[in-house]
Amino acid sequence: MPSLQILMIASEAVPFAKTGGLGDVAGALPAALARLGCGVTLAVPRYRGVAGGTPLTRFPLTVGGRTLEVGFVEHPLADGARAVLVDCPELFDRPELYGVGNADYPDNAFRFAAFTRAALEFAARHDLHVDIVHAHDWQAGLAPVYVRTLYANHPELARAALVFTIHNLAYQGLFPPHWLPALDLGWDLFGIEGLEFWGKVSFLKAGVNFSDRLTTVSARYAKEIQTPEYGCGFDGILRRRADRLVGILNGIDTAVWDPATDPHLPEPYDADRLDRKRSSKRALLEAVELPSDDQALARPLVGMVSRLVEQKGFDLLEKLGERLLALDASFVLLGSGEPRFQDQWQALAARAPSRVAVRIGFDEPLAHLIEAGADLFLMPSRFEPCGLNQMYSLRYGTVPVVRATGGLDDTIVNWSPRTGRGTGFKFADTTPEALLAALRKALEVYRDPSAWRSIQLQGMACDYSWDASARHYEKVYENAIRARTKRP
Ligand code: ADP
Repeated sequence: MPSLQILMIASEAVPFAKTGGLGDVAGALPAALARLGCGVTLAVPRYRGVAGGTPLTRFPLTVGGRTLEVGFVEHPLADGARAVLVDCPELFDRPELYGVGNADYPDNAFRFAAFTRAALEFAARHDLHVDIVHAHDWQAGLAPVYVRTLYANHPELARAALVFTIHNLAYQGLFPPHWLPALDLGWDLFGIEGLEFWGKVSFLKAGVNFSDRLTTVSARYAKEIQTPEYGCGFDGILRRRADRLVGILNGIDTAVWDPATDPHLPEPYDADRLDRKRSSKRALLEAVELPSDDQALARPLVGMVSRLVEQKGFDLLEKLGERLLALDASFVLLGSGEPRFQDQWQALAARAPSRVAVRIGFDEPLAHLIEAGADLFLMPSRFEPCGLNQMYSLRYGTVPVVRATGGLDDTIVNWSPRTGRGTGFKFADTTPEALLAALRKALEVYRDPSAWRSIQLQGMACDYSWDASARHYEKVYENAIRARTKRP
């Protein structure tokens, strides 16, 4: 098969913008596909503060009768892969990506519809010979609809196969129906087989219903989202399309997340020099102003880097409250999110300032230092489509304690003292007690240095690089092309 040309559309991508796992994936997948011989153009909005790049073109774009002046700026990503940043300051030159605090920008429907249109129009005008339009999450969910409506007669785009990836089903891009005409979408699309979801327009549903193939980010999550418990109201819709849905585990960027080369660590380490991990622990304790004497260094340190929301299990931790302080462990938390969880953790830190440190905010260097300096990494998620931090933790010899859901269940092997096999500790029930029991068990094993070292080394030997995942995506693209040829 000749090399595939892929237009990827994502609302965030490292190194340009990131609020979560989507940014990591969209930043790494294009280069991994390019290594397999694919040609990839990744469209991302040009948010505030993103500089540089080569200007390619500008043209006016009319969406719902409103004309925007849009520029396109190229950044090479790898041999065969490039990012094209969509420059439209009135939509994207704002303090945050999606909204300020917990309030979304009121024009998000327009912002991301216009971004998607701009990406497609760029491809349409520049003869990219696109074989695949691969859209990610609700922000790009209208891409397959626009390809099938506005570009239905375009000689190139109309024959592209359409792939949509769900990174998190909980974010559904729901807007009042009056947006339809403002986004050039006909009322005929406002039906149960189209974009309508309980009286609203859902961009996510657009992606699900109009694509040739659907993917999500772990095999376990692909199954879970077809159940009422995890389906967020979409389980029936997904069950009907189960034959075209597959789970592909995200990889991690092994160049960025490598304790042997990580510039954020005081001293590099790897499986052969694991003792040097201790310098990262000391540096982390110092960085967050916890004691770093011998006694503190000997005490197990639990790290967390997370959005502070219920999805990540922060309500379970909230219920444990001060029971966490009864454990012989210290805690470092980096994250931001719901004020109630921020307050709770700040109160815990005030109560036990020598054992709990909290940093509210987004801090990439500190995230690296936590991965390296902590002994355990806690992810008690209620649901977790894939999760990246547990894979970073494995690589950094930091033992994950996770709830057995989604990608956490697929990537962590529960430690068994009987077989001596395992890379972490898992619990099944969504209860504070189950979480506490798993933490207790992990802390008990921590006191057995040879067992602990064995768990660390088994984790460090895992390979979650992008290459295997990219090969899976390539298969999905080939299947999507076959499905496209059968579509009317
Ligand atoms: P999600 O996308 O649901 O937030 P993932 O585990 O898939 O969760 O990805 C989260 C990514 O964002 C990881 O790379 C993690 O290190 C990073 N991250 C989350 N919160 C912060 C923070 N406060 N500071 C730095 N990095 C963060």
